Amino acid sequence: MGRAFASPPGGITAPGRTEHPLTAPPRISRAYASPGFIYWATPAVTPYLHSSARPEGLPSLNDPPASIYQVIAARSGHAIRMVHGETVRVINLHGTQVVDTWAFCADDPGEFMSMEHSRAHWLRANPATGDTMLTNRRCPIATLVADTSPGVHDTLIAACDKTRYAQLTGDTGHDNCADNLKSSLAQLGIFEPRLPAPLNLFMNVAILDGGRLEFRAPVSKPGDYVDLRAERDLIMVFSACPQDILPVNAMKPCDFAILLCGR
Ligand SMILES: [Zn+2]
Repeated sequence: MGRAFASPPGGITAPGRTEHPLTAPPRISRAYASPGFIYWATPAVTPYLHSSARPEGLPSLNDPPASIYQVIAARSGHAIRMVHGETVRVINLHGTQVVDTWAFCADDPGEFMSMEHSRAHWLRANPATGDTMLTNRRCPIATLVADTSPGVHDTLIAACDKTRYAQLTGDTGHDNCADNLKSSLAQLGIFEPRLPAPLNLFMNVAILDGGRLEFRAPVSKPGDYVDLRAERDLIMVFSACPQDILPVNAMKPCDFAILLCGR
């Protein structure tokens, strides 16, 4: 829902870095994309940064500065603008969170990352490292340039929405990825967007004999990440899927992080 991330009490400054307060506005914007900063984000994440158990993929205190590091809260969404050539790292902090991901062309949100067009390009159900996603006009929009997870993702299942949960449980007010997409884009002034099929990062939908599908818990581990490079100026939207009725998030939706790096 575009929720703000919380600042740790008192703030944290990485040794050797320019001190900056953690009272900065939480939304990502170009103004925050200046090099030299890692935005240490939430109390939930800082233990990793100071622990030998820090999952791979998280920035350490000794890493070169990245542009932006941000935690997206459980059940919420977030949109970022990316310039052609930039890469965003999507980090599965807990290993069990599905991240619905969309991309829209910056100059025309009517052109967007299309799973059905991309599958025809890959000749696979899911992307592998090196695969480029296409738009609904068959133009490159993003490339999966790295993946430390077992590579189990999904392109077949639509984003969850209010109706999905109403049908599953009767709950008509459940958080959902479709609303997260809309509210995240609204933050950028884009209203009434299309709702393309998402690239469901880390989602484990088994294709069984005969083509039957089965929802399963993710097989990724804490700290696994996927890097997506923008092949044009675009808006990328992420949703921490709030599905807690089926096992797609191991029954406990949680937060994840993004790390936006320059070209
Ligand atoms: Zn969802």
